Amino acid sequence: LPVVAIVGQPNVGKSTLFNRIINQRLAIVEDKPGVTRDRNYAQAEWLGHKFDLIDTGGITWENSNIEEEIRAQAEIAIEEADVIIFLTNVANHVTNLDERIAQMLYQTKKPVILAVNKADNPEQRMDIYDFYSLGFGDPIPVSSVHGTGIGDLLDQIVQSLPKDLKQNEQEQISFSVIGRPNVGKSSIVNRLVGEKRVIVNNEEGTTRDAVDTPFEIDGTKFRIVDTAGIRRRGKVYEKTEKYSVMRAMGAIEHSDVVCLVLDASTGIREQDKHVAGYAHDAGRGIIIVVNKWDLPKKTSNSGKDFEQIIRSEFQYLDYAPILFVSAKTGQNLAKIPEMVRRVSHNQQQRIKSSVLNDLLLETSKLVPTPMIKGKRLRVYYMTQVATNPPTFVVFVNDPELMHFSYQRFLINQLRENFDFSGTPIKIIARKRK
Ligand code: GDP
Repeated sequence: LPVVAIVGQPNVGKSTLFNRIINQRLAIVEDKPGVTRDRNYAQAEWLGHKFDLIDTGGITWENSNIEEEIRAQAEIAIEEADVIIFLTNVANHVTNLDERIAQMLYQTKKPVILAVNKADNPEQRMDIYDFYSLGFGDPIPVSSVHGTGIGDLLDQIVQSLPKDLKQNEQEQISFSVIGRPNVGKSSIVNRLVGEKRVIVNNEEGTTRDAVDTPFEIDGTKFRIVDTAGIRRRGKVYEKTEKYSVMRAMGAIEHSDVVCLVLDASTGIREQDKHVAGYAHDAGRGIIIVVNKWDLPKKTSNSGKDFEQIIRSEFQYLDYAPILFVSAKTGQNLAKIPEMVRRVSHNQQQRIKSSVLNDLLLETSKLVPTPMIKGKRLRVYYMTQVATNPPTFVVFVNDPELMHFSYQRFLINQLRENFDFSGTPIKIIARKRK
């Protein structure tokens, strides 16, 4: 999806505007549970046009001054966004900081939309003419708190979005390499695409191609998402946790399969879990890649031991295969695209209803269905309603009786009988009509 970033000095109302725009979307598309954490990156939609919205001001910089912060905001917007919203506050008139931000934004060729916030009444709207001096054309008066002007702003955003972003993406398997700083993401990507045979020609006119790297192995086309972000180094803001999580969320959104990289030499850290949580919530395929496997002193049990730690730290990722690799020696790296292909296949597979119902019959002999307050769950029929992730509807006498543990049991049965490794599975209980 195209990316729209909000930039502006502190306290002009960036996060209020962010929430406003996201809520426009909530009226149309229902938000999924589990993705509404404190965030500065979210999907938005206006008149059928979807885009990703970033609140660059929501990424906090510890120990930084305002000057550094706005510079970082502008840099993120210039590098990541397809459209930039430059937000100002009508009550402040044009400030020095506004002018400083404008200076930085002059350097981008991307469309910049100037919005003037807190224009709550007609009198204040008169004051927006001052803002022509910033040199970004007509300022758009908005009130993030009252919601006025937001429609005009969104119209302008949609008009400025790049066209045809989606073409040529269909036959490729897109995957991302995510993880906290220094686990070896860029080393892995460099080795994968540096050595790998044919680099597919960049298609013209698609913005994401600039940041994604296509390549081909044995006739399968892959696309590694956000390689520009992985390979570029040394910006101040890249070290902040919030930024790296945001970056990972963006990459996850554009991928079919996510490779979560861990560092064998440091073990698992809190930040690894944050990144993993987002990947899991998004319902994407996941592979856990333990990098720097050349470093630890190994006994015959090292792999097993590390695997056990991973399984207990990331219990909700019990479906994710684990690969032990070294970007330094190249050990096992070729397994990454192989596994990505397998997981992608698993996400897409469809199981016939007849096969599912044979399985249901067999499993009903294994354990009794749960009983709640004297009432027993009856399972009549199961059918797959979606892929990516594979989603199954189970028709029952009363959905309330579908206990979590029984759902879990059905998922395990599916995993035992079919190859669903790497992909989450969803089960929905419905009352039989
Ligand atoms: P990123 O921040 O996740 O992209 O991490 P980098 O790819 O920049 O790697 C961080 C550091 O770890 C660099 O000094 C790499 O040379 C080193 N490194 C990466 N992969 C390996 C590995 O497999 N083995 C060893 N020993 N070092 C590695």
